[in-house]
Amino acid sequence: MTVTQFISTHQDAVQIALYAFIISSLWLMEVCFSAGLISVKKRWQHNKTNLLFVFTALPIQLMLTTIVLLIVSWTNARHWGLINYIPGHQNKWIYYISLFMLLDLCEYIYHVVMHKIDLLWKFHLVHHSDQHVDVSTTVREHPGETCVRTGFLMLWVFILGPAVSVLVLRQTFQSAFNVLAHTEFRLPQKVNKIAGLIFITPNLHHVHHHYQLPHTDRNYGDVLSIWDRLFGTFGELDVKETRFGIDTHMNEKVTGRFLNILKIPFQKLERPGK
Ligand SMILES: [Zn+2]
Ligand SMILES: [Zn+2]
Repeated sequence: MTVTQFISTHQDAVQIALYAFIISSLWLMEVCFSAGLISVKKRWQHNKTNLLFVFTALPIQLMLTTIVLLIVSWTNARHWGLINYIPGHQNKWIYYISLFMLLDLCEYIYHVVMHKIDLLWKFHLVHHSDQHVDVSTTVREHPGETCVRTGFLMLWVFILGPAVSVLVLRQTFQSAFNVLAHTEFRLPQKVNKIAGLIFITPNLHHVHHHYQLPHTDRNYGDVLSIWDRLFGTFGELDVKETRFGIDTHMNEKVTGRFLNILKIPFQKLERPGK
């Protein structure tokens, strides 16, 4: 069996392994290079709470991915989906780049929806309630949001009609970018200016994690920052002014304990509608 064959027959396992590898290497780097930013005991407690979300997300994700794959085979067999109307889509490059960008736009729309619809925001704010953003924040997602996110992916796949290979490629990029966007490490300003023209950098995603509006509603982008620039949601904020968390949930007794975090969406919001 060749490496390519192995990867294509074990896509889920390969992706999980890759994701785990990226997270743990960056986590190690954070522990080594960001010493002093947070005490070792506090960091461990924080990481442990966030990592527990892996155990709620994995079974949901694996189960619902089966439905996503069923939709993919249905759309592919019928040549269904927006991609079939893109001029030149028979060309491999046009096919992959168009779908990558369209899927990224879909993720942008999804993220805006999670912020703007009160009920969905109550689930998404769990991700925002982390008062110390590091690689472990990447997996801090309420299981309710995992269901909604995968549900939206089913919709995007149905609308666009991508091949499985596009989804695998996209998922790999997306996971790597999401982990990088949450590291404590920030890019030097000059590098950030250039990379941020196209991509969501850690500096840009940190703005999204600032505890107060309007910054929380900036930089919704997933991999690309072009949608934020296009739709007027792009924003920058100096590191000295950035404070992580969400103003309605700053009590660490709630936001720092796994079981209390799970209850957040079912409690009344202090300020309904944010
Ligand atoms: Zn958000
Ligand atoms: Zn985030």
